[in-house]
Amino acid sequence: MPVLGRGREEEVRYISQIEDALLPQEMHRRAETRISFDEGVRHSCGSVECVSGWMRPWRSRRRPVFEGRWGCSGRCVLAMVRLAVRREAGERRVEEGLHRHRVPLGLVMLAQRWITHSQLQVALQAQQEAGFGRIGEWLISACGVEAEHVTRGLSLQWNCPVLSAEGFEAREMALVMPRRFIEDYGLVPLRVAGSRLLYLGCEDRLNASLAYAVEQMSGLRVQSGLVQDAELKAVRSRLLETEAVPVAMEQVADEDAMAARITARLEQKRPLAACLVRLHQYYWLRMWLESGTRGVFGSIPRSAEDMQDYLFTASPPPPSFS
Ligand SMILES: [Zn+2]
Repeated sequence: MPVLGRGREEEVRYISQIEDALLPQEMHRRAETRISFDEGVRHSCGSVECVSGWMRPWRSRRRPVFEGRWGCSGRCVLAMVRLAVRREAGERRVEEGLHRHRVPLGLVMLAQRWITHSQLQVALQAQQEAGFGRIGEWLISACGVEAEHVTRGLSLQWNCPVLSAEGFEAREMALVMPRRFIEDYGLVPLRVAGSRLLYLGCEDRLNASLAYAVEQMSGLRVQSGLVQDAELKAVRSRLLETEAVPVAMEQVADEDAMAARITARLEQKRPLAACLVRLHQYYWLRMWLESGTRGVFGSIPRSAEDMQDYLFTASPPPPSFS
């Protein structure tokens, strides 16, 4: 029974259908407008609260540019950043709601006749006795089920394709997102296909929020799928040892403090382009500092040089004992 025989083209079509249902078109459109290297969009101050009426040709200050808009003063940058922080804090996410009613993996595989009832019983019992491990792992180790079948079962369970690491380039892919996301969420960027489509791979758990964040930041359509364990581990370890965009972690008290801190960093670094996207607790600010950073695919940078990432987290102050 061919398990991984799905052709690349079919894979793309298959996953497109799923993601079309997942992400409204509006999100894709916005992905293209948030990061703009186009000079034309920022001739006047981008803050809606701006009262100075500054046009850029009349002002020596050309940067920073935040989400495609130029701020005529620190105050106007702060106004733009505040709105962006609020947007990210309140934005309704395509969380994992779609997957809430997943059929258990064992039943999926049973229905496909990839395992027998007795194999499932043995695996479940082994899992229960050990008190750890996922059912897929026990099917492999206790019942001799092939890893390919488990991956395929997971792809049915999550309604996503099986992807291969073919065409993976660590140097390019290490620039897609901060290492922290790879470490925390286990997803890895695999490759860009057809110059508009970025593949994300995971071992056993899709993350729609991560896919959405990377989509906003890369300006590319992101599609996720499952990658076999050994292949994924190899990709992950290569990514983690390859040069990535430098990242600074900063903790702030609340949203207002975050907006102020982001503004300070924008004023300090004066980026040519910058964008803010939230992923769970992280507010990811990425800056393109010079025009040479512009890469080939979407807004994925050419190299780590003249790039800067920040990961902000807001933690409420400790409770007072009054
Ligand atoms: Zn202004």
